[in-house]
Amino acid sequence: MFITKYYTSWEELENDIKNCTRCILFRYRKNVVPGEGSNYSKIMLIGEAPGVTEDEMGRPFVGAAGKLLTLTLESVGIKREEVYITNVVKCRPPQNREPRDEEIESCSIYLESQILLLKPKIIVTLGNIAGKKVFSLASMPWNGVTKMRGKVYNLTLLSLNVYSVPTIHPAAALYNPPMRNILLNDLKQLKELLGMVSTVTEIASTSQREDVKRETEPKDLRKEWRTLIDYIKKRPGNTT
Ligand code: URA
Repeated sequence: MFITKYYTSWEELENDIKNCTRCILFRYRKNVVPGEGSNYSKIMLIGEAPGVTEDEMGRPFVGAAGKLLTLTLESVGIKREEVYITNVVKCRPPQNREPRDEEIESCSIYLESQILLLKPKIIVTLGNIAGKKVFSLASMPWNGVTKMRGKVYNLTLLSLNVYSVPTIHPAAALYNPPMRNILLNDLKQLKELLGMVSTVTEIASTSQREDVKRETEPKDLRKEWRTLIDYIKKRPGNTT
């Protein structure tokens, strides 16, 4: 199957993703993981590839790393169901290896179509592979997640103007506790940016409203992290 056009409906797109055989990853998968969340969200989160739990459930970021991501989003006042979450590749690479360049290329039409259907204002890239992919769509240089994170970039990709917030992969934060604050701080930056983007859109559409939304104070994450660590320790296989 060679696709030469972008999709115009979520249903058609998800159907083709679920039946995809464009690269060898289809041979290893239990389930395809197209993506999920609000199809109307201003925010798109992009990870690398499904892990073992995602492959079992057909849903993105539902393993231990996903739970950390969901908790961290909630702690800055963003509900998981308010955003759209997907991955650069939609099938799990065997042994959780990184997706190869040709697999990323084969899957690109799906990610690009998701971006074009959603038209997000903000794209959060989780980890190096996702950051590199999104910056390449914008024909912009990528210097690795460690150097690129912590800043907001204004990119033009697929003729859309978006803010990009590169951050670390939640799995890195999961296994390296000091990195959890990096993820948290980057998502706080996302929340601030969302406030600004929403305010600009609202003012443009309702002419000069004064009641600009207050930011939600981040709650103390320590208790949730302890709960999460207990959960991870108890998991058979302990995968991300
Ligand atoms: N890691 C990812 O990059 N994506 C997932 O969906 C889960 C783990």
